[in-house]
Amino acid sequence: MNQKYIPLSVPNLKGRELEYVSHAIETEWVSSGGAYIDAFEKQLAAYVGAKGAVACQSGTAGLHIALLCCGVTQQDEVIVPALTFIASVNPVRYVGAEPIFMDCDDSLNLDAEKLLKFCEEECRLINDQLINKKTQKHIKAIIVVHVFGNMADMEKIMEIAKIFHLYVIEDAAEAIGTYYLEGKYGGQYAGTIGDLGVYSFNGNKIITTGGGGMIVSHNDQLLKKSKHLTTQAKKNELYFEHDEVGYNYRMTNLQAALGLAQLERLEEFIAIKKRNFELYKKNIEKIPGLAMLAFKENTRPNYWFYSLYCNADYPLNRDEIIGLLASSSIQARPIWALICDQKPYLNNQAYRIEKSRMYVKHIINLPCSTNLTEEELLRVVGCLNSSF
Ligand SMILES: *Cc1c(COP(=O)(O)O)cnc(C)c1O
Repeated sequence: MNQKYIPLSVPNLKGRELEYVSHAIETEWVSSGGAYIDAFEKQLAAYVGAKGAVACQSGTAGLHIALLCCGVTQQDEVIVPALTFIASVNPVRYVGAEPIFMDCDDSLNLDAEKLLKFCEEECRLINDQLINKKTQKHIKAIIVVHVFGNMADMEKIMEIAKIFHLYVIEDAAEAIGTYYLEGKYGGQYAGTIGDLGVYSFNGNKIITTGGGGMIVSHNDQLLKKSKHLTTQAKKNELYFEHDEVGYNYRMTNLQAALGLAQLERLEEFIAIKKRNFELYKKNIEKIPGLAMLAFKENTRPNYWFYSLYCNADYPLNRDEIIGLLASSSIQARPIWALICDQKPYLNNQAYRIEKSRMYVKHIINLPCSTNLTEEELLRVVGCLNSSF
C-alpha cells in the first residue's frame, strides 16, 4: 500500500502569501528595498514588543551581526549550549572568537545552575571582565537558545549575566511567539529579554520567508548598528563611503512579503501546534516507554517542535523508532548531535556535559507541520503502537 508521506516540518502558505509576493513582483520591488521589508520589521517588533527589528538574510547572519554588535572579537570567548543547531555556534567563529560549551537542563535548554557554577568556579571577575582561568581570555557574551520553542530560564540567566558582565544574545530562531505568562518577565517574548534576539524564517521554522532572519533589541544603539552592518556599512550612500566592514545581509522585499503574510497567521499556527501537541501527548502517554517532553510552565510556548522521549521500556531504541516510522513514510529525526563533538569544535572547552549526552540518545522529533491532519497524527501514533 502506498501511504502518503508525512514530512517532519513543512511550510503552510495558504494565507495572503501569494497576494503579497505577487504585489511585490507586480510593482517590481523584489530586492533589498521596499515597503514589505519596513512593514515586516515594524509588525514583527510590535508583535514581540521589541523597540525595533532589523530584517536580514538568515538567522545565522543575524547571530553573526549580534556578536559584532556586542563587540566580540578574536580575543574573546562566548558561552554556548552544546545541545543546539550548529548555526547557534558557527557565528562565534565567524568573528574569530571561541565557544565554551555548556550542558542543558531537563527542558533541553542551557542549564543555569551549571552556568553559575562555571562562572563562579572556573572564572575570575577582574575589572568587570569575566576571565576564564583556563585560557585567561575574556568571556564577553552568552548565546542562549530557546530550544524547540521552549523558553530557557531567562530569569536565572539574566541574573548571572548581570553579575558577570556578560552580553546576552538570545537565539530565538525556533521560538518566535513564546512568552512568559508571569514572573519577572511576565508578558515578555523570547528574543526580547537579552541585549539582542534573533529569529529565523528558514523553511522548517513556524513561519518562513524561504530563508531569512530578524534581529530585535530594546537598545537603539544596537539596532542602529545592526542595520548599518547588514547593509554594507554605508556612511554616505550617494558617494559610496563606508566606515567599517559591512555585510550584504539585508532581507529582500520578496522574502519580507512572504514573511508579513506568515506573521499574520502566527497565532493561528501556534493554536494548531498546541492542539496537535496535546493530541500526541494524550495518545502517547498510554504507550509504555514513550512520553512527550513538556513545555515550561508559566510560559506560553509556540509549540514549534515536539520531543518524543523513549526509554528502555519501549521495545525499540531511538534509531529503530526512526526506522520504523520511515518504513511507514513518516519522517522523524533524532535531536542534534552535540556541537562539542563536531570536528571544528573538538578542542573547545566543554563544561560537565552530562544531560545533553543522555538526551541525545532518547529524543526524537515527530511530525509537527501546521498542515498535519488529525488522521495523519493518529497514523504516527498507530505506527508507534505497532511494535508491541
Ligand atoms: C534554524 C536555526 C538557526 C539558523 O537559522 P537560519 O535562518 O537557518 O540561518 C539558528 N539556531 C537555531 C537554534 C535554529 O533552529
